[in-house]
Amino acid sequence: MPQFFDTHAHVNFNAFREDGEEVLRRALDAGISVVNVGSQLSTSRRAVEYVKKFDGRGIYAAVGLHPIQLNRRVIEHRDDESDWELPVQEIRTSGESFEYGAYLEIARDPGVVAIGEVGLDYHHFEEGDDIPALKAEQKRVLREFVRLANEVGKPMLIHCWDAYDDLLVLLDEVSPEKHGVIHSFIGSHKTAQKFLERGWNVGVNGIATYSDSYDRLIREVPLERIVIETDCPYLTPVPHKGERNEPSFVRLVAEKVASVKGLSLDEIALATTGNARRMFGLVT
Ligand SMILES: [Zn+2]
Repeated sequence: MPQFFDTHAHVNFNAFREDGEEVLRRALDAGISVVNVGSQLSTSRRAVEYVKKFDGRGIYAAVGLHPIQLNRRVIEHRDDESDWELPVQEIRTSGESFEYGAYLEIARDPGVVAIGEVGLDYHHFEEGDDIPALKAEQKRVLREFVRLANEVGKPMLIHCWDAYDDLLVLLDEVSPEKHGVIHSFIGSHKTAQKFLERGWNVGVNGIATYSDSYDRLIREVPLERIVIETDCPYLTPVPHKGERNEPSFVRLVAEKVASVKGLSLDEIALATTGNARRMFGLVT
C-alpha cells in the first residue's frame, strides 16, 4: 500500500471536535501520516495532545501563531472565491499576542516536528486597519518564530498570502537554518523558483485539483521539492469539494500531481513521503 504524508492538517480545529480521533485513525489505516498544525496557543497544544493519544505513531504536531490570529476578526472562508455555491465557513480569530516562552516550551516537545503555522497574510486586512502597523507586527512575530525554530532546530511551515515579496526579503534577513515548506503555495512558478533557490519546499493541496491553472507550477517544481497536504478542514479536493476536508483526501492531491508529472501514484507517494520525512527529521 502506498504511504502518504499529509504535511499540513488541522484535525486539532473545532471542525473535528466530535470525531478527530476517528478521522486520524482513518488516515493511519489508509497509510497516511499526518502533521496537525496549530494556529494559536490553544490549537498548538491540542496538536501536541493528539501526538500523545497516538503514541507518536504516524501523528505529529507543528506549533505556531497564524498571522490572522494576531487580530480579533470574523473572516468568511470559501474554498474558492469564485464558487458562490459553497457554504461559507466562518473563521473567528481571537487576537492573541505572541509569547516567545510559551511557544518555546511546547516547541521542544519531541512530538513537534515543525514550527507553524506562521507567516504573513496581507489578504485579510479590513477597512480602517492601520496596515503599516499590522504588517510590521506580522513581520516582528515571524522573525521571532524564525529565532525560535533555529533555537529548537526544527523546520517551518509558512503561510503566505499576498506577501511573497516581503516574505523573501524577511527570510533573507533572518536565515532560518532548517527551512521547511511554503504551504498552500499560490504564487507563480517564477516566485516558486525564488523559494526553491533558498532551500524551501512547496506545499501542494486541493487547490491543485480545482482547475488546470495550477498544472504549470506542478510541472516546474522538481518532485524532490514537493510535499503534499490537505489544510483540512479547508480546501477540499475535487470531487469532494464542498464537504469537510480530511487527511485521507490527501491521496487526491497526490493523484493530481501524478497525472501532471506523468508518473504513477506509487512514485508520487514514495517521493513526497520521503521529502516530508527528511524535512521533519523522521528518517531513521
Ligand atoms: Zn493551515
